[in-house]
Amino acid sequence: MSAPDPTAALEPRLPSPLQPVDDERFARHGLRLLLKRDDLIHPDIPGNKWRKLAPNLRAAAGRPLLTFGGAYSNHLRATAAAGRLLGCPTIGVVRGDELAHRPLNDSLARCADHGMRLVFVDRATYRRKSEPEVLARLLRDSAPDDAYVIPEGGSNALAAEGCASLGRELRGRADVAAVACGTGGTLAGLAAGLGPDQRALAFPVLKGDFLAAETLRIQRSAFGGRRGAWSLDERFHCGGYARTTPELNAFAAEFEARHELPVERTYVAKMLWGLTVLATEGVFPPGTRLAAVITGQPDSSSR
Ligand SMILES: *Cc1c(COP(=O)(O)O)cnc(C)c1O
Repeated sequence: MSAPDPTAALEPRLPSPLQPVDDERFARHGLRLLLKRDDLIHPDIPGNKWRKLAPNLRAAAGRPLLTFGGAYSNHLRATAAAGRLLGCPTIGVVRGDELAHRPLNDSLARCADHGMRLVFVDRATYRRKSEPEVLARLLRDSAPDDAYVIPEGGSNALAAEGCASLGRELRGRADVAAVACGTGGTLAGLAAGLGPDQRALAFPVLKGDFLAAETLRIQRSAFGGRRGAWSLDERFHCGGYARTTPELNAFAAEFEARHELPVERTYVAKMLWGLTVLATEGVFPPGTRLAAVITGQPDSSSR
């Protein structure tokens, strides 16, 4: 007999809604824009963070959760919230030991409010966190013996399997699925879940071409090889997770007003911006249905 699914008690809204929206920047080119509202899956564990965490929460089966993130990590916040809701302890290893001596920012303060124990480590150690001896030391110093480790951004094989549900929900309903890309885990799963006549188009928020290799690595670990059609468009990052440009902010503010949709700036705004530019450039043939995955919502505490 299998154990009850702990995540069912959290009542996720699944499948997430798919909403057609009117936007003449798309309609003018014969394109249909659909918003895949993963931000509505759960108020405290929204979007791809739900899809990535749920299989890990099942595997952890109530053990303490240890994971990693930067000072503004949505993944840390989602893990902290999940731990509180499910009654299991959480430990967040945070990049930057200088932060230990400063007041917590909003994001980390919310992690702490959810009961997450924050462990600040210097950047050199943080970079080496997946080396066995570094991880072993972190676990020994900071976590109970039975802790369940989730990697940075939550993107392990189980997470990619969880995100395949996103692709499956879009089967037959779109031609291209656009998604923001931080670690590649969501893209890896999304592409694997799509049908053979669909493709995923990802917009990285970091510069550098390591994300294609990383996405492939995650697909290999989760599915045994490359799965589905996917590509990355590198043009629309702003040079770092937390960075934005005046142009991006203006685009996002206008999109929010036009569609009455709060737009998260770190990831979602960059994807919507890229998709709108590509549509305007005539990259997609007329008749293409574009599903934009709204992977998260703005952090309400900072708004
Ligand atoms: C974490 C996050 C992403 C990035 O997902 P990856 O699986 O790391 O690529 C995208 N959008 C939002 C809103 C996120 O919080």
